[in-house]
Amino acid sequence: MSDMSDDQNSHPESGSGEPSVFSRIVAREIPADIVFENDRVIAFRDIEPKAPVHLLVVPKTERWRDVVELAAGDPDLLAEIVATASALAGDPDVFRSDDGADLTQRADGAGGEFRLVFNTGASAGQTVFHVHAHVLGGLLQEGTLAH
Ligand code: 5GP
Repeated sequence: MSDMSDDQNSHPESGSGEPSVFSRIVAREIPADIVFENDRVIAFRDIEPKAPVHLLVVPKTERWRDVVELAAGDPDLLAEIVATASALAGDPDVFRSDDGADLTQRADGAGGEFRLVFNTGASAGQTVFHVHAHVLGGLLQEGTLAH
């Protein structure tokens, strides 16, 4: 196994030197439907939802390109992302649309159940190289991964 030091596995920038789209959401330069924020993470609705509820949970730092780097570099922050996803999946308010309509047809929101996806690498579908978790919930089909 190769050396997993920070120097080899961290990328302070997104590649272009420009702030990532998610850093621009954190800075309020791009609007987003933010459902949670603290000093380390932010969560907002994906602009192109792939499920009745589709959130992105994102560390405010863009130091880590993907979940592999994050797990090696700051496992506590990865754990906080998972805990945030779980808390939001248990929050019935997250499972209501702006007009108050229920997105899950369940009284208890997602009941704390959710699918957590970290696309890792372009060939796996990653398009934003600022690590983020997709939190998918609400009437997902059993036995499927991508729908
Ligand atoms: P990836 O493909 O890198 O795993 O996921 C990137 C996600 O970010 C996509 O699901 C995409 O729809 C979402 N996204 C990209 N730009 C924006 C934006 O400006 N606002 C929001 N809310 N989501 C975005």
